[in-house]
Amino acid sequence: MAEANRDPFRPANDRYDENRLALRPAAGRLQIALNRAHHNAHALHPDQFRSFKAKRSFPNNVHTLRDRTVATGLMAAEHFFLELEPPEERLRDAPHVVIVGGGFAGVRACKALAKADVRITLIDKRNFNLFQPLLYQVATGLVSRGDVATPLRQLVGKQSNVQVLLGEVTNLKPESKQIIFNSRAYSYDHLVLATGSGSTFFGHEQWRTFAPPMKILEHAEEIRRRLLMAIEQAEQSPDPAARKFLQTVVIVGGGPTGCEMAGAVSELMRNAMRREFKQLNTEDTRIVLVDPGDRLLKAMPESLSKAAQSSLEKLGVEVQFKARVQTMQPGEVTMSTPEGDLLIQAATVIWTAGVRPSHLGRKLAEAIDCELDRAGRVVVEPDFSIKSHPEIRVVGDLCSYRHTSSGNPLPGMAGPATQAGGFVGKDIGAIVAQTPRPNFNWFDFGSMAVLDRVDAVADLRGLKFSGGIGWILWALAHLAFMPERENRLTLLIKWIFAVTSQQRASMLLTGMPSQHIGLDAPDAPFPMQSGGTGPSISAPDAALKAAMEYYSNQVSGHQDHPAETSEGSTDDSAAAMR
Ligand SMILES: Cc1cc2nc3c(=O)[nH]c(=O)nc-3n(C[C@H](O)[C@H](O)[C@H](O)COP(=O)(O)OP(=O)(O)OC[C@H]3O[C@@H](n4cnc5c(N)ncnc54)[C@H](O)[C@@H]3O)c2cc1C
Repeated sequence: MAEANRDPFRPANDRYDENRLALRPAAGRLQIALNRAHHNAHALHPDQFRSFKAKRSFPNNVHTLRDRTVATGLMAAEHFFLELEPPEERLRDAPHVVIVGGGFAGVRACKALAKADVRITLIDKRNFNLFQPLLYQVATGLVSRGDVATPLRQLVGKQSNVQVLLGEVTNLKPESKQIIFNSRAYSYDHLVLATGSGSTFFGHEQWRTFAPPMKILEHAEEIRRRLLMAIEQAEQSPDPAARKFLQTVVIVGGGPTGCEMAGAVSELMRNAMRREFKQLNTEDTRIVLVDPGDRLLKAMPESLSKAAQSSLEKLGVEVQFKARVQTMQPGEVTMSTPEGDLLIQAATVIWTAGVRPSHLGRKLAEAIDCELDRAGRVVVEPDFSIKSHPEIRVVGDLCSYRHTSSGNPLPGMAGPATQAGGFVGKDIGAIVAQTPRPNFNWFDFGSMAVLDRVDAVADLRGLKFSGGIGWILWALAHLAFMPERENRLTLLIKWIFAVTSQQRASMLLTGMPSQHIGLDAPDAPFPMQSGGTGPSISAPDAALKAAMEYYSNQVSGHQDHPAETSEGSTDDSAAAMR
């Protein structure tokens, strides 16, 4: 009975992680028994087998208590083994490497361990790897989400020693070599933290909704929605002053992302839409790029900063230096400048100014008292480990690596993250194989930023390029870094299309409740609408959770209080499942 009441979506033995090594032989025997049971099931008469499978898949068909217990036991054991079993038999006793974060650093670490005798669990809260450098192209409709994101299973899932798991790591227990993942403890022998960074509003979190940052796909799509909605409204506004307001965009931050965004927005609003909108006067478009410093692209040589400024000004972008944002509200930004306060009324404000490392750095410091730099990044040893915890490595945007020839920390960029991930993978492989360990030698490729359709600045190990050559180098470098062949090809085609036709391939405006078609009820909940009874943006997994709750109740026999859903009762859902 106890088994029948258990939640089938949790592992059969929650204390497994505490006793993993001790449990391995028993678990192996249980798996063999299960495999036999499965084999026997296949050996049944086809009708018997269909009925056996039906009982396992559809609990409503499980009639007797005995059948229900057997079905629950089988299912629980499969879930248990999902986490327990090594992907290959030879890896049963291999060291367990947990990589948290499937970004540039995490994926490369995973690939570098492909041939090592380790079993790897790659955990990410998203099921895809995101190519952040091209987010600005999603935000301005040049490419779409699928062009800059690759499912992690597609990237590394086929690797025989890797299991990819979806979920968020919320805490770390370094003393017991455990992480807290999806609300339960999970053990490791080597831990690679590669959770990257997010955005910061320097203590003004309330600005986040007024000025979306650009760090994840949803940000880029929200920016595109705001830009397109503003232009659509301008097309319908008879008042020229209102049209000017709708066509004004303020971009905060003069780093690579801010400059790329300013150039792309200008291209979008001045050129790409010129023929398609009949009332818009492109001369009314105003794009203001705001930075607290005195030059753009501070990480680049001064000559390239000047070239970038001049390219952007030719595109009609106003550059406002020594300006610090003071207040923000919808439609208005005020900033302090040496000439006094400046107020700009703008329908769209975009934030590219601040980067904050993932909160797991702070969690690690709370747990083992490791050093964080001023920004909150974890200070690491020459092999990216933590002092006194050689089994923990921190790579990518989350680490502060100062063991460079100049003594400056590695920049928070894709190149260093990829190289660090690759190094750490190789190093763990060498430790496991007991072969000589490698040294980390960072190769600085340089930096680049694209400003217009075929105009970019690039500083490649002291060699400076701008204009068309800069753009070709930029394009080649980005295509080379793109992890997936298919994406490389589609990007190339879309770029050629954009350069030759001045058109954009991904200008769809979606996600608004008013876009319902064929519904009489004006307040019918939109699938992604917050509030209401259905799944919302704030809880996109609500529908799955409800289904899992329903299923758990079914297999454990608790059917007394079926939860009502917006689509109908759980009985309806059960009918749908049947
Ligand atoms: C808009 C933009 C433009 C950029 N342009 C450039 C450029 O042109 N050139 C360049 O070199 N660099 C650029 N960068 C910087 C570059 O993208 C980063 O330096 C790089 O992504 C860092 O790699 P990472 O592996 O450390 O982290 P990321 O690539 O950010 O990956 C972190 C991963 O960890 C996951 N994660 C986070 N927290 C958790 C958790 N608690 N549990 C589970 N998973 C978690 C995330 O979902 C993510 O998949 C740009 C960044 C942005 C935002």
